[in-house]
Amino acid sequence: MVDFSKYRVVDLSAEVVPGVLSGERYVHGSGRRRFELRRFVYAPDGTFMNWVETETHVGTHVECPSHYLEGGKDVSSLPLVTFMGEAVVVDAKRKRAEPINPVDLESEGVREGDILLMFSGRSGEDRPFIGTETAKWLVETRVKMVGVDDSIAVEAKGSMATHEYLLGNDIPIIEGLCNLEELRRKRVLFIALPLRVRGLDSSWVRAVALEEL
Ligand SMILES: [Zn+2]
Repeated sequence: MVDFSKYRVVDLSAEVVPGVLSGERYVHGSGRRRFELRRFVYAPDGTFMNWVETETHVGTHVECPSHYLEGGKDVSSLPLVTFMGEAVVVDAKRKRAEPINPVDLESEGVREGDILLMFSGRSGEDRPFIGTETAKWLVETRVKMVGVDDSIAVEAKGSMATHEYLLGNDIPIIEGLCNLEELRRKRVLFIALPLRVRGLDSSWVRAVALEEL
């Protein structure tokens, strides 16, 4: 059995506060997205339940192939093991408004089967981004999943290469992670499971890292 006293558990999920939200409280800055709860009384036994009205790209969420590709796999049709495993934490703060290159990731020791978790601490136009070359490299290296917080842009301006290459090769993308800078280890055990809903393009996740003390 796992001895949890030997691990530090870090919650990497954004807290979604219901309402009409915008900007930094969501992901990648622009637009307003709804997450509304309406409570009702379930008549047969008088308990309380909620209607939820929102979209799939709110807070910390995992994007699956059907988000970008007609006929791509949805959240319920990728193997569960896709969404958990050993992750390498990449601090890209030395990058400013420029791509994170394959050579940067090679020097961080990213290898086949890894989940990649990236942050930079930068915002707006200063954010580093995943360029086309790196998107290709991530596919060639056969990483398992790529996660970012709001300080990394998934795409260069005007490009959809990361969606194209990663989602086109069944490599999910996690957006809206939090607390990555609190991780102390370079390698952690990472788990972020989507809901099992048939046809859903993306799902809210509770993302968590376990790191050895
Ligand atoms: Zn999204």
